Order: sequence, then structure tokens, then C-alpha cells
Amino acid sequence: MSIAQQLAQVKERVAQAARAANRAPEDVRLMAVSKTHPPAAILQAISCGQILFGENRVQEWESKREEVLASPLLVAASSSSPAPKIQMHLIGHLQSNKAAKAAELFDAIDSVDSLRLAERLNQSAARLNKILNILVEVNVGGELSKAGLAPTSPELLALFDASSRLTHLRLLGLMTVPPFTTDPAGARPYFVQLRQLRDQLRQRTGLPLPELSMGMSHDFEIAIQEGSTCVRVGTAIFGQRDYSSPTAAPSES
Ligand SMILES: *Cc1c(COP(=O)(O)O)cnc(C)c1O
Repeated sequence: MSIAQQLAQVKERVAQAARAANRAPEDVRLMAVSKTHPPAAILQAISCGQILFGENRVQEWESKREEVLASPLLVAASSSSPAPKIQMHLIGHLQSNKAAKAAELFDAIDSVDSLRLAERLNQSAARLNKILNILVEVNVGGELSKAGLAPTSPELLALFDASSRLTHLRLLGLMTVPPFTTDPAGARPYFVQLRQLRDQLRQRTGLPLPELSMGMSHDFEIAIQEGSTCVRVGTAIFGQRDYSSPTAAPSES
């Protein structure tokens, strides 16, 4: 199946899952996760109207970005129909020393996992004169192999308590990658946990925290049932990832 067909199918499944959960389909955004896939794949999705994307490494997006942004697809056809503008989110672990580059190249950072990183991003965004949307990544399963703050970590509270002085960040909510379970329903308790944590942080801070980024190819329907506002789907749109290609090392940002 082509990327166009797979994208159409995933969109339909997202809408169906939303309706089945008595939610409006437009309340769940579909992020196309293009890591390891070439600019041509991203452009195919753009030609089908997809504008929200996720990449997990700074350098990888840096190497693909020019080719994507130079495409005629992103240039206005006429003054009456403005060019579509894509939104690229960083969803992989970010080292503090790459915060400046990430703040420059991405429209949002969905994987903020320390107060120090948030402070660095805030400084970088201030220098760039932009407001950066961020999500805080939570490691709900407590897995050592995964990034994110523990749900009970004092640093998580400290980060949210610092939000009023992080003037160039807009703290919109939480993101998680739950432990893998063969049965997608196995992820449900983790999704519930993320939603409850968001509710607690909302009460504590008074921030609206509208965003819950949860659900991937394997389990997005369950995530939508539990309140996801953004599902991050790679494989089901672009096919299997090939980590042997030179632009696609699986390591961290
Ligand atoms: C790769 C990745 C995804 C997409 O995973 P699929 O199973 O291919 O849909 C989602 N979120 C994050 C953080 C990822 O790194």
C-alpha cells in the first residue's frame, strides 16, 4: 500500500476511535512520525494534506529539512491560496547541549524531561524571539531504557512550578511512551495514569494543560479511548523502519 493509502486508513481509524469514545474526531490530532524515512516520504504525506510531523533526532531533521522545505508543495500556488506550513515536533530525547539547535529547527519539543533542559530551551527561544510549545515526557512504566521523568519525581513538580518564569515556553501537557505489551490494551493503565497525572498537575498549577500525546501505531485506538489529543504514528503510515540506512541511526539526539 502507498503512503497515501496508509495515511488515509490511519486517519479513518483515528476518527472512528474518537467517535466510538464519544469524542469529536478533530479533538485528536494525527502526528506522522517520519524518523528514518527520507524527505520523499514526508513530501508524499504533505501532498495528502498532512502538516503535523514528528522526528526523534535533531541531526536527522537538520539533514532532511532543506529538501522538505524547498518543495514546491510548500510554496504558495497563488496569493489567494497560501502555502501549507508544516509543523515539525521533536519527540526523542534531547541533550541540553543541543537545546539551541532544537529550539531553532522545531516548532515544538514534546520530549522535555528535565528542568535544566526546559531552562535551556527557554533561553534559546528567548534569543530566537519565539515562543516554543513544549510537552513534558513522563516515563509511566519506569523503564530504565526509556526517557522521561518519573510520575512521582520531585523534578516533575519543580518543572511545572517553574512555568511562570519560563516565559518563552508554552507548557501544554504531557507525553508518554508506555512499556510495550503484545496486547495493545495492556497499555491502557499507563494511558489512564498519564491522564490522571495531567489532571493533578492542572489542579496544582492552574494551567489548562490541554495536551496528552499518547498512542502509537500499535495502540493508538486505546490511547484515544483514554483521552489522547495527539497520536504519534510512524509504522502504520510509512511502513517498517530500516535502521541500516545512513541517515537513520537509532541512537538518541
Ligand atoms: C518512533 C516513535 C513513534 C512512532 O512509533 P510507531 O510504532 O512506528 O508508530 C511514536 N513516538 C515516539 C516517541 C517514537 O520515537
